Amino acid sequence: MSEKVGFIGLGIMGQGMARNLLKAGFDLTVWNRTVSKAQALVSEGAALAHNPADLSAHCDVIVICVSDTPDVEAVLLGEQGVIQGTRPGALVVDCSTISPIKTQVFARTLAEKGVHMLDAPVSGGSEGAANGTLAIMVGGAADQVQRAMPFLEAMGQTITHVGDNGSGQMVKLVNQILVVTGMLAVSEAFLFAQAGGLDLAKTLQAVEGGAAGSWTLSNRGPQIIHRDWRPGFMIDLQQKDVRLILEAADELSVPLFGISTAFHLYRTLQKRGLGAEGNHALIKALENLADIRVGSDEAAD
Ligand code: NAP
Repeated sequence: MSEKVGFIGLGIMGQGMARNLLKAGFDLTVWNRTVSKAQALVSEGAALAHNPADLSAHCDVIVICVSDTPDVEAVLLGEQGVIQGTRPGALVVDCSTISPIKTQVFARTLAEKGVHMLDAPVSGGSEGAANGTLAIMVGGAADQVQRAMPFLEAMGQTITHVGDNGSGQMVKLVNQILVVTGMLAVSEAFLFAQAGGLDLAKTLQAVEGGAAGSWTLSNRGPQIIHRDWRPGFMIDLQQKDVRLILEAADELSVPLFGISTAFHLYRTLQKRGLGAEGNHALIKALENLADIRVGSDEAAD
């Protein structure tokens, strides 16, 4: 009989990931701080827990996908946290993007109770979460990675065991260096194209199949052209990742110029109250500096 799985955190990512576990036929229990976000999954067959402790008392494998390091700490170790309900031998799989150092602390704290942990942050956006095509970078013990594989394979397509606890989060930060500098490149390219009077849709079509092609360009480029700022990934969370990268880079004495620039540009957007917009709204910071408006005028801003 397959292990019972629980899912904590039904946000933009968690909704799709949990739904794919359900579709794969797993016995699924869910919990979300805002209960209303769990209703759709419950109507599709998931059981609803009262809190993380209640969820972990009924599950062998507990998947978490919440916002930031203190949020993982709260659902894991808080008053009604996973650790209050879970049994020795259980496995926690943290798919949130959080601090690699704190991840190691959480893993040690759980290990004292005989509970295993994997860090398994994901990449692929809301689209990848919905379609089950995420890239998942996993840190932790090999036997637990093998144990988690049926669940990870229900949520993702490329699952890579990259090392011990914390390594998954470090690789995710590498991923985010590529994503954020890519977003900066896409923003500068569209700003330049607009200033040059080019047809943006034709420009996108011309370059995305060549050496400059990327997930960011193909998925967020059309949104920029239509000035559609709905988030696949919110600026506030993107900035959280940039902060994690800069903290780690400081520890490692590595200069990261593109990331530093993006940090300050995103900060200006947060100051303007745009933190809930998608991370592709980065271009608005450049528009502001250049006094140029990119994309179709008739679309809502
Ligand atoms: P989101 O839509 O804002 O969802 C955040 C989830 O975390 C919600 O379920 C929220 O509950 C829950 N949460 C936050 N703080 C909590 C707390 N203190 N206690 C309990 N629950 C809490 O964010 P998301 O885009 O799904 O991102 C989730 C994680 O995946 C983040 O670490 C993010 O960096 C990572 N990620 C996101 C993407 C992406 O493209 N969106 C891609 C890869 C990785 P409520 O509903 O009650 O607010």
